[in-house]
Amino acid sequence: MGSLNSLEQAKPSRFWRKWLGRELPSADTMGRGFSQIGLNSIRSLIHHVYTRLKRNKAIRKTHGFPVLILDGHEHTSSYLRCCPACLRRRVHTREEERLQYYHRNVVAMLSGQEFPVLLDVEEQRGGEDEVSCALRLGERVLRLYPRAFSVVVADGLYLEAPFFNLFLEHGKHVLAVLKDERRDLMEDAKGLFQYEEPQVQIEGKTKRLLWDIEGFTSWESLGKKVRVVRSLETRTVRRQRTGKEEVETSEWMWATTLSQEEASTETIVKLGHSRWLVENRALNEMVTCWHADHVYKHHPNAIAAFWLTLMFVLNLFRAFVYLNIKPCLRFRHTDLYFARLIFAGLCEGTYRKIPP
Ligand SMILES: [Zn+2]
Repeated sequence: MGSLNSLEQAKPSRFWRKWLGRELPSADTMGRGFSQIGLNSIRSLIHHVYTRLKRNKAIRKTHGFPVLILDGHEHTSSYLRCCPACLRRRVHTREEERLQYYHRNVVAMLSGQEFPVLLDVEEQRGGEDEVSCALRLGERVLRLYPRAFSVVVADGLYLEAPFFNLFLEHGKHVLAVLKDERRDLMEDAKGLFQYEEPQVQIEGKTKRLLWDIEGFTSWESLGKKVRVVRSLETRTVRRQRTGKEEVETSEWMWATTLSQEEASTETIVKLGHSRWLVENRALNEMVTCWHADHVYKHHPNAIAAFWLTLMFVLNLFRAFVYLNIKPCLRFRHTDLYFARLIFAGLCEGTYRKIPP
């Protein structure tokens, strides 16, 4: 594996050069190759695609901000197969207690307007939690993509001082879901919200009551004032089964370092919700349509290499579909249709090269 600092000098490895222009190698060869490939060679390809997209102004801002989203994902678990990098946990079943092996990673992606741009992934190591893994990923993303984003949006799990401070030190802002883990901050905010008249916002069938107060100092370990935004949302939905209309209520709270001058209450709500939508789109699609969770070769390097390769391929594929194909043709078909078309073209090209 090459050093992370030498990423810029990294070039597609010998494995790729050998692979390109020849017929497809066997599954075993692919597995062996992915076990040995330098992860930075794939990262350099992702960086290259990002640079081209950025230069062509294809990465749009989300509600006025270039946004980085970090999210954790458990991508495989097994009672039987394991490798030295497997995480372990005891699972209590009805009959017995069993040792389960699993892998978890944290994915970094840019929330583009039309499609998310996947930047990097980091595997969680034994003995560390998801936030420590995200910190390692965050440091690398800050080094490789220092100007790609100005706001980091994350789940409530990331409401930790070291995580916030890492990005604040580099002049970035952070926005995370406020959960019970920060009880002091939450109770302070809820106490003050009682005395503030909420703003009312209506968007389609959704009505939002919004509270927004800044200058909270109750999160002592952060050593910085934060702003808290609360959104109480009611939405009328018609149930398919009964045909009756029902009112759904949900409550959201976010803690952020963005001031009221820098971002309006509405922007904070939109940024907070966009995380959920982008994550769903990026990770759900990777898993459901592209089999990101499948372990082709149970080897720590191969697992990360497959994820990075898929990220590179998806960025290229989405850039092709959303930037190259005219909207009138794109709207007539699903992404999967174009994927199958490309696959058919690749197969045709490959089999033509094999002598009869
Ligand atoms: Zn493993």
